[in-house]
Amino acid sequence: MVTHQTIGERDTALTPEDLAALRENLHEQRLFRQEQLRQFASASRADDRRRQADAARIEVGVKLAASARMVLADVEAALARMDSGQYGTCHLCRRPVERHRLLIVPQARYCGRCQQVREAGR
Ligand SMILES: [Zn+2]
Repeated sequence: MVTHQTIGERDTALTPEDLAALRENLHEQRLFRQEQLRQFASASRADDRRRQADAARIEVGVKLAASARMVLADVEAALARMDSGQYGTCHLCRRPVERHRLLIVPQARYCGRCQQVREAGR
């Protein structure tokens, strides 16, 4: 049987437990990305030394490092929003970002609707 929750509108209310779990998740992601970037940095130094490095492979590495840096920036921005109490608000429409969305992508800046609009506009 379905129980109807009446806290807040829709499923957007984040509990303190949610926030603690999300913060932990963001910290883990930050560590992971920082480690990834360290590995890319040492890999490209090794490539420089060898000189006959495969250019295509380096290019993939550069792209991966760029995307790791982007995720890291998103993660750090999300942690900063948590510290300033702005976490979970859509950057475009200022409505709360859906709870289920944050639980999957804790660093999400936009609500589902705005994200769809942004992706459609590409
Ligand atoms: Zn929005």
